[in-house]
Amino acid sequence: MQKQHIIGLSKEELIAVLENLGEKPFRAKQIWQWIYFKGARTFDEMTNLSKELRQKLNDCFILSRPKIISEQISKDKTHKWLLEFDDGERVETVYIPELDRGAVCISSQVGCAMGCKFCLTGTQKLTRNLTAGEIVSQFMVARDAYGEWPSPTLQTRYLSNIVMMGMGEPLQNEENVIKALNILSDGDGIAISRRRITMSTCGIAPKICSVLEKTGVRLAISLHAPNNEIRNSLMPINKVYPIEQILAQAQKYQQKDGSRYVTFEYLMLDGINDSPTQAKELVALLKKHKIRATFNLIPFNPWAGSDFKPSTDQKVKAFADILNKAGFAAPVRTARGGDISAACGQLKSKNK
Ligand code: SAH
Ligand code: SF4
Repeated sequence: MQKQHIIGLSKEELIAVLENLGEKPFRAKQIWQWIYFKGARTFDEMTNLSKELRQKLNDCFILSRPKIISEQISKDKTHKWLLEFDDGERVETVYIPELDRGAVCISSQVGCAMGCKFCLTGTQKLTRNLTAGEIVSQFMVARDAYGEWPSPTLQTRYLSNIVMMGMGEPLQNEENVIKALNILSDGDGIAISRRRITMSTCGIAPKICSVLEKTGVRLAISLHAPNNEIRNSLMPINKVYPIEQILAQAQKYQQKDGSRYVTFEYLMLDGINDSPTQAKELVALLKKHKIRATFNLIPFNPWAGSDFKPSTDQKVKAFADILNKAGFAAPVRTARGGDISAACGQLKSKNK
């Protein structure tokens, strides 16, 4: 029998495979705790299991992390890992620390098929989807580095949030993403609260609500434009799912629970989408669709070969003011980790 990765099995799957090995469900729970709560890296350290069972686990499963190919820490302490999976495919994972907390930015695919014009990952083509285990283990690598095992209490966590904003479009790999998010948020293990997990999508409209319902995580939409004409020119997927279809789904998601805010990520591109008129157009768009939203204004992070330029600070401020006056919070996201190419839209799989 070929060995199977144990990281990435859902709790139900783990119970079922252990049952097949003649073990009771509570054993699955113990193993789950060892892996996801205590961060065990071998079966041999699972001392409350019999030697016989540990041997069985060694015979049937692999318990391993992806290989760390390289690791960089920027001046602002942003930490980036280039990770390699069994088949040699690679992704980047980034930890962005704040004073007493921090977010781990994880990838969902190797490359991305969406081809957004401003995104370096988008130039890379899609190689393959990541498995649920590969998604979860990115977070585990970050936790290893900061020694946050066993899962600490909420107040003392440096790795407190997860953002699915790394490489790839999560809604193009929804089955594995759902599974991974449910493992990451499981209270008996890694236990990152669903409200501290944000999934960012370019807007695959028909999949938005079902994935959020199945995971309970928060929604961020990469909007980047106030109308379809501009969005079409930046994001080819908009021709398939135009703004109205995406906003209709955002509205549907909010109808279920009034406390949910949608975050709109808005990349500030000089001369393309950053004028005061466009800010007003954006306000009108959201008011028309009655969406309670927060904006995240993102400075464009340049990369070699891209023609876009970041908007000036003045323009960003004027844009933010218009959104603020209309009642929308619109913080400007500070670019983090730029000196090690760890910022949004700069992730890739090559070690160059
Ligand atoms: N595919 C998903 C999630 C990954 S991208 C999505 O598109 O939402 C994470 C965020 O980085 C997105 O909002 C994306 O638009 C933004 N981004 C892409 N390229 C960028 C760049 N060069 N500078 C700044 N942000 C960028
Ligand atoms: Fe893919 Fe998101 Fe980059 Fe677009 S912005 S190419 S959807 S990773």
